[in-house]
Amino acid sequence: MFEQIARVPGDAILGLIEAFNKDTNPQKVDLGVGVYRDANGNTPVMRAVKQAESRLVDNEVTKTYIGSHGDPRFGKVVLPMVLGASSPVLAANRASATQAPGGTGALRLAADFIASNLKGRDIWLSTPTWPNHLGIFDAAGVTRHDYPYVDEHNRLDFAGMLATLKTIPEGDVVLLHACCHNPTGFDLSREQWDQVLEVVQSRKLLPLIDFAYQGFGDGLEEDAYGVRLLAENVDEAIITSSCSKNFGIYCERTGCLILIAKDEENMLDVRSQAAITARENYSNPPAHGGAVVIDILQDDTLRAEWMSELTEMRERINGLRRDFVEALKPYGLDEQFAFIAEQRGMFSYTGLTPEQVDRLRDEFGIYMVRSGRANVAGFSTENLSYVAKAIAAVVK
Ligand code: PMP
Repeated sequence: MFEQIARVPGDAILGLIEAFNKDTNPQKVDLGVGVYRDANGNTPVMRAVKQAESRLVDNEVTKTYIGSHGDPRFGKVVLPMVLGASSPVLAANRASATQAPGGTGALRLAADFIASNLKGRDIWLSTPTWPNHLGIFDAAGVTRHDYPYVDEHNRLDFAGMLATLKTIPEGDVVLLHACCHNPTGFDLSREQWDQVLEVVQSRKLLPLIDFAYQGFGDGLEEDAYGVRLLAENVDEAIITSSCSKNFGIYCERTGCLILIAKDEENMLDVRSQAAITARENYSNPPAHGGAVVIDILQDDTLRAEWMSELTEMRERINGLRRDFVEALKPYGLDEQFAFIAEQRGMFSYTGLTPEQVDRLRDEFGIYMVRSGRANVAGFSTENLSYVAKAIAAVVK
């Protein structure tokens, strides 16, 4: 029976990692993979995480099931982080938290929740978007549509986005990236979020906000502007939060599905459905990452340590963005690429064509996704001028 099953190509990024590892060029640069890198090219365990983990080892007394919603303390610390400590939505008990296996797990819960409970509602995704969004909603059986996000000059196409949002049928779901848009790095300004809210309200859309990079853009609170604006001004919303990047616990699979309903009663209704979805998928989420997040957010000292490490990561990325534009100055390309300093998060749509990306790889050992997406955290003070020179060579 297996004989008729065809082989599908693997993840393009994994292929890129393989090719990078094989490359013997001593100057090779990896701008492909989607994890944070420090100045030495490593993705270390955060100090606050290490401390929380060592306490956990000492204090953990059981490994029994934690339930389909996860550890109840997890929601208690993540909800105020996402929605704000003084959120009226929290005060009204309108938000439900379900701990999930990463942001991906939370998205799959959201997709299954929509498929089971909101039959006939389609989802609208930005073009481009994180490629896994497509697969997740397809797998759940939710019909997808696109709205434009980037124009042909590699700039945010807000007019195009808004025009399409205005045509979405009432009741459909619109997926918005809260900050640090992956793959482009183009984020909405506050004024643009305000306009999105107006359309969401007037078209009666259900916002699904993917919050995978809280703290990586402008700050933990600043990055939540759009999330909180929508949460506080619509009756119903879905938020998927990830702790993978901001706590650096990628492999611990820690995320949260947040369902906001019009009142507490209805919140408990939708919450009960989220538990069923989780149970049918994997029963209980993994506990370890959640326990680490709980310990860090509940302890003032650990929280302060974590905040300063998160700030360090964010400032490194934003500093590299500015330095990169500076490094392009000698080639007269700083204005052309000035937008890179304005983008936010780990990723940048550089505007480089697939052919230019191929040349960077073949002639300079610089690896990035063929869409022209670069992981800015792969830059370092050592390789910036080399990458700038290589880009100048391929764009001229
Ligand atoms: N959404 C977006 C936009 C992402 O970029 C990612 C991570 N690459 C995720 C969700 C999922 O994150 P996690 O690793 O927590 O599953």
